[in-house]
Amino acid sequence: MSLATINPTTGETLQTFEELSGQQLEQKLQRAADTFRSYRKTSFAERTELLLRAAAILETDKQKYSRLMTLEMGKPIKGAVQEIEKCALVCRYYAENAEGHLADQVIETNATRSFVRFQPLGPVLAVMPWNFPFWQVFRFAAPALMAGNVGLLKHASNVPQCALAIENIFQEAGFPNGAFQALLMGSALVEQILNDPRVAAATLTGSEPAGRSVASIAGKQIKKTVLELGGSDPFIVMPSANLEEAITQAVKARTINSGQSCIAAKRFIIAAKIYPEFEKRFVEQMQALKIGDPMQEATEIGPLATEQILKDVADQVQTSVAAGALVLTGGRKLQRAGNFYEPTVLTNIPADSPASCEEVFGPVAMLFRVDSIAQAIALANNTSFGLGAAAWTSDPAEQERFINELESGSVFINGMVASDPRLPFGGIKNSGYGRELGEFGIREFVNVKTVWIA
Ligand code: NAP
Repeated sequence: MSLATINPTTGETLQTFEELSGQQLEQKLQRAADTFRSYRKTSFAERTELLLRAAAILETDKQKYSRLMTLEMGKPIKGAVQEIEKCALVCRYYAENAEGHLADQVIETNATRSFVRFQPLGPVLAVMPWNFPFWQVFRFAAPALMAGNVGLLKHASNVPQCALAIENIFQEAGFPNGAFQALLMGSALVEQILNDPRVAAATLTGSEPAGRSVASIAGKQIKKTVLELGGSDPFIVMPSANLEEAITQAVKARTINSGQSCIAAKRFIIAAKIYPEFEKRFVEQMQALKIGDPMQEATEIGPLATEQILKDVADQVQTSVAAGALVLTGGRKLQRAGNFYEPTVLTNIPADSPASCEEVFGPVAMLFRVDSIAQAIALANNTSFGLGAAAWTSDPAEQERFINELESGSVFINGMVASDPRLPFGGIKNSGYGRELGEFGIREFVNVKTVWIA
């Protein structure tokens, strides 16, 4: 049985789930299509009321949802609570702003009146990952539902209870039955759903191979997709930076969610002048992190979400070390039950090793030393990914160069890359296309309809 809750802290299988039968899937697709026909006619005021209720449910029951997340994928509980709070925030953001973001836009032409009207597309399939099992879903669902679309969620196979809990939240909030449905199924059925004429579009957050597959199937059907894929974000520190703050944020940026974040800083590119000091203090802080039971408030690093991820991370480190990388700390699985991997720092990393050119989805930091800003930018851009980038410098001319020359969907100056409901989020290159969040996010799954009146 592939859909299961397996506690990553103990390795124990807690519950398994049957995949939807063909008949159940058919019912859900038809329900989505039927619901869309009426739901699209609801007013912004009605949708706002429903989404605010969803926000209130999240806030009231945040302990319950956080614990569920931690149980299924091992996120340290403090981060899990923050994730639920952020889901409530994105609901409130779109409840308050969707109408403004989707208001008619008048454009002067030779017509008596011409304008653009934004209209929903229909049922949207959301293929979602386990790493932020609530946040990733809510940041799709809140704008999609406010725009008048309906959602079909194919969640990752290791978080089925999170999927069902999210469906319940929307039901409890009062959304019509077919407005947001979880489809308990493995990825093999995704193709059938993308080929179904009732499904209008798709969004996928996940790995590059999954993105390629979904986009090519949807492409054949001429259906719009948004892809939020992996990253190997650079974190650059120049000599004029506040080093203490940069190091503290560097540790946090690499180890958030036990290192399993698409926008986690993965490659630390440090100016030679400050490199020795950075390396020493960064390694000390990585060694000081508290690893253990993710249900404990004080835990900073929990287990990796699945046994397979643990194996992948261990293999990537081992192969990189065999190619010549040096381990400054860590580099091993912990000798205890569960999928625990030591916070690890590598240096002297060969250019073609996995640590250099692949996404490492665990608490493993790669340090690189550079002699100039030009070298820093060239190294930062020497990746197939382009999600986020952080650059630390107090020199305005350097800041401007980083903003202009880093190839990524976002650049954060003197801060770590993070998502914010108000700001667009997404990548370029193999990190995907399209944007979530903010005004750009809600415009992805709408028909931008031109209206011309003589
Ligand atoms: P994943 O293996 O690609 O899985 C993501 C989702 O895609 C799951 O629901 C999975 O279903 C499904 N899937 C996998 N292969 C598929 C295929 N060939 N066709 C259709 N669906 C398929 O990724 P993950 O390990 O869960 O998540 C980690 C990845 O997500 C990392 O690369 C991370 O950087 C990326 N991510 C990106 C963002 C962003 O915003 N850019 C945010 C978070 C995570 P099953 O579970 O059933 O296989």
